[in-house]
Amino acid sequence: MHPLSRRDLVVAAGAAAAFGLTSRLVVDPAFAQKTAPPAKGFTTYKVGSAEVTAVYDGIFEKPHDPAFIANASVDDVKAAMTKAGLPADFVSISGTVAIVKNGGKTIMCDSGTGGQAPGWVSGGLAPNMKAAGIDATKIDTILISHCHPDHIFGLFDKENKPIYPNAEIVVSDVEYKFWTDPGVIDKLPEGRKGLARRIQATFPNWKNIRQVTGEAEVAPGIRFVLAPGHTPGHRAFHLSSGNQQLMLSNDTMYVPALNVANPGWRGQYDQDHATAETSRRALMDRTIADKVLVAGFHFPFPGVGSIAKDGNGYALTVNKV
Ligand SMILES: [Zn+2]
Repeated sequence: MHPLSRRDLVVAAGAAAAFGLTSRLVVDPAFAQKTAPPAKGFTTYKVGSAEVTAVYDGIFEKPHDPAFIANASVDDVKAAMTKAGLPADFVSISGTVAIVKNGGKTIMCDSGTGGQAPGWVSGGLAPNMKAAGIDATKIDTILISHCHPDHIFGLFDKENKPIYPNAEIVVSDVEYKFWTDPGVIDKLPEGRKGLARRIQATFPNWKNIRQVTGEAEVAPGIRFVLAPGHTPGHRAFHLSSGNQQLMLSNDTMYVPALNVANPGWRGQYDQDHATAETSRRALMDRTIADKVLVAGFHFPFPGVGSIAKDGNGYALTVNKV
């Protein structure tokens, strides 16, 4: 375990207080986050005439587990974290939601954890969005990359009431059908069954979900991009405005310190390893060929940078925007 000094606790408690999460820290200080949140929880940058605001939601400091990567050891994982300039004693999985203003619309890219994803110290999205001057009630569209908890639990409160009843929620038809199929629950590993049950108790009752096929334009200047493997219907989002582009890769390379550097590592969170690797390599190659910015939900805040070839793998340079 990681003994916490008094100063660590004070820092973590201060950070958590900003997110309204003090109760969790009081209950179990061992879970206090060690990574300080960004001093300012949002950053705005332009892609052509589109305005993108990266909003910090929180972090999951995942304890090491030999089962996490099937073809790499815990020591390999620690070395990869160190190489990326991150602490080696846990896997840093931060969450940043991109909110795009384009064509008169406000488009949220995934909904974050809602402060409810297991293991996360999170819930920063709402206060940071407010600080950025974005009115949650004025969000027109929410694009869903896939249905893992850190990406969709922001859609409902703890009683499963929708947080954004007036926004259109757009998800791939493949992803929607996978999770809402009653037969899927028996096929999922134990840890994912509750997620499917929660989706089945909510999504089919909501009138504001739109399923889309293939690589349709889903909002002004934004298209879905097929990137299956992490989940069956996982999608990246491609934003184009003027002569600039941004590839929102979502969870295609979910933990960049591990999956950008080692695209062939078979991580527990990818539901289909071989398909995930094919999607990962194809998406990274496309951004290199097209020389475009790449955002990632779990990239270190502000979650945007560029990818380059690096030996047998790839390397991410995170932009200081
Ligand atoms: Zn994720």
